[in-house]
Parts: sequence; structure tokens; C-alpha cells
Amino acid sequence: MILTSKIDEIILLLKKEFPGVDPKPSKADPLDILIATMLSQNTTDKTSYLAFRNLKERFKDWDDVMNAPIAKIRNAIRVCGLTNQKSASIKKMLKQMKEKYGKLSLNFIKKMPDEKIYEELLQYNGVGVKTISCVLAFGLGRDVFPVDTHVHRLSNRLGIAKANAPEKTFEQLKDLIPAGKKFLLHTMLIRFGRKVCRSQNPLCGKCRLYDLCEFNEREHYAVRSNIEPKENNFIILEHV
Ligand code: SF4
Repeated sequence: MILTSKIDEIILLLKKEFPGVDPKPSKADPLDILIATMLSQNTTDKTSYLAFRNLKERFKDWDDVMNAPIAKIRNAIRVCGLTNQKSASIKKMLKQMKEKYGKLSLNFIKKMPDEKIYEELLQYNGVGVKTISCVLAFGLGRDVFPVDTHVHRLSNRLGIAKANAPEKTFEQLKDLIPAGKKFLLHTMLIRFGRKVCRSQNPLCGKCRLYDLCEFNEREHYAVRSNIEPKENNFIILEHV
């Protein structure tokens, strides 16, 4: 099957799994989204939100965070883990931004095309492609396809990407997904990864994408999820 047709088919099937889901990318302060996404690495939505809220409540503004002792930032974001790394990255990124623009704001990127924004923000400490995609989707309302570890896992199990890192999956898929459906597919894959195609013990026996999937352990997990795997075309010879 041609890859673009397979992606179309996956979108159709996922829409049946999640009827009524029609997420619109949202618009919020892009620097807030950048920092919230940096906090979200390797943790849950709930804890990263708590850490972000703590920063907002305990500091006057992002300048205040930039000038604060690192221990104070670490303390505010303790709930979300990797605190040494995240506090250092955020502080350093804010300093870099202040040095370059003289102020802490990303409002100037609102009029830039996507590619320019990736180029611009990749210069900052601790900011990668996934984080920038989140800024585009949740800060600027752009139709993009953020690839985190979950979207990476599903894309590779399904065989629409063949990559060993989320950044490479993003590169392979960003131009293949139809315009207007990128954020939708991202959202549905995240939901599907939580509900069915979980990291551990995926429910392959209950999966409507089974016939499209290329995960080589899907039959094993179909049995484990207590539902017979779909019939294959092999002739059973053992009683001949
Ligand atoms: S068949 Fe299994 S591995 Fe493949 S998409 Fe479905 S749940 Fe994931």
C-alpha cells in the first residue's frame, strides 16, 4: 500500500475510534507553551502542569525566573522530575533569549513561516523539534504534527515511519500527512496510544488498525489481550 494511502486509511479508522474528535490547535502565549513543553519531558500532563503553575505563581514573570537562584527554580518544579536538567535548561534558554532580543517574548515568531520558526528556536538550549512543534500547535494554532515518544512508537509499529528517534519520525512524516489533518492525527495517535497501543502490553486483539500494523509482536499481544488474532492465509498442514 502506498504510504500516503495508508496514512489516509489510518486517519479514517482512528476517526471511527474517536468519533467527534476534531481538535483545533490552540493559541496561547508562545513562550509559556515553550516552557510548559520543556517541563513536560518524561512526565505526565498532570505533573508538568503543576510545575508550570508553580513557576507562574512563585515568580513575577519570566525575567524573575531567569534571575532566580537555580535552587528556587528547582524547588518550584520538583513535582515533575528531572529537576536539575529542566531548571538549568529553562534558565539558560531564558538568558540566551534575553541576550539575543533584549526581552523575553516570542511574539515576534507569530508572523514567521513554520520552517523559519524551527530554525530560530532550535538555537536555544534544551529546545528540540518536538518542543517547537508544540509551540506551533498550542501557541500559534498551526496545523503541525508534534512527535513525542508515544507518536513515535505508534508510527513505527504501524510502519508509516521507520526511525529510531522521534526527531527522525517527525522528518519522515511531516510532509506525508495531508494538510489540515496533521494535528488531528497527532491527537488521535496520542489517545490511541493511551487506550489501545500502549507502550507495554498493547491491546492488539482489540485494535482496529491490526490489519495495517507492521509490529512484529502483534500476534503475540493479540493472544495476550484475550482475543483471537485475525485469521491469516496460511494453510494449516499439521493434520494432513
Ligand atoms: S496491532 Fe497492536 S501494535 Fe499494532 S497498532 Fe494495534 S495495538 Fe498497536
